[in-house]
Amino acid sequence: MNTVTDNLKTIKNEIIQIAQQCDRDPNSIELIAVSKTKPVELITQAIEAGQFSFGENYVQEGVEKIQYFKQHQPASALIWHFIGPLQSNKTKLVAENFDWMHTLDRFKIAQRLNDQRPDNMAKLNVLIQVNISQEASKSGILPQQVEDLVEQVIALPKLNLKGLMAIPEIENDFEKQFAVFKQMQQLLQSLQVKYPFMDQLSMGMSGDMKAAIMAGSTMVRIGTAIFGARQYL
Ligand SMILES: *Cc1c(COP(=O)(O)O)cnc(C)c1O
Repeated sequence: MNTVTDNLKTIKNEIIQIAQQCDRDPNSIELIAVSKTKPVELITQAIEAGQFSFGENYVQEGVEKIQYFKQHQPASALIWHFIGPLQSNKTKLVAENFDWMHTLDRFKIAQRLNDQRPDNMAKLNVLIQVNISQEASKSGILPQQVEDLVEQVIALPKLNLKGLMAIPEIENDFEKQFAVFKQMQQLLQSLQVKYPFMDQLSMGMSGDMKAAIMAGSTMVRIGTAIFGARQYL
């Protein structure tokens, strides 16, 4: 069995290799270790291996881990990304605990996060989630609706709009993965004309990281390839 330390090393090397293949600076690609369902012991191993950015999908679970590490590893400056679906009755916990929120797809949630972000904390970094595969069942806003939401979100003083995020439909074929991620890159580039501060693209998971990086991802969210398969209750 590979350890978290070995897996992290492997993934980081892969990121460097892929970046070289497409002439990108590997430092422009942030690795977010998705630790949902995984115990603090495994997260501790990742921290000891130099990992500091973590992604969590479930509010309660994420907040418990954030609090745990605040207490047990006060010296390590961890960055916590909320990457799951968010109901409006849970926004306060995200506003009070996380550094990033990747799945913003409606103004009501943005407004609540803004109102609930404590004054003594830095602005909450947010990404707008785009339903790029245009699936009826998926969360995320349709590409043609993104700009209206951008306009609304940038008016909120405690949110820092940084870019876009997507979770495309699962697809095994590289070319098809790449085509969808390219659409995301084009959407971001079209927004950058007017909103140049939007420079982050959160896309790519264990199964499609390469296509995502080649299409310009700046944040890959990797769970399984670091922590192993998840068991759901
Ligand atoms: C679980 C999850 C990931 C990580 O997926 P892996 O396939 O385990 O790498 C990334 N992003 C989101 C939004 C997730 O929910």
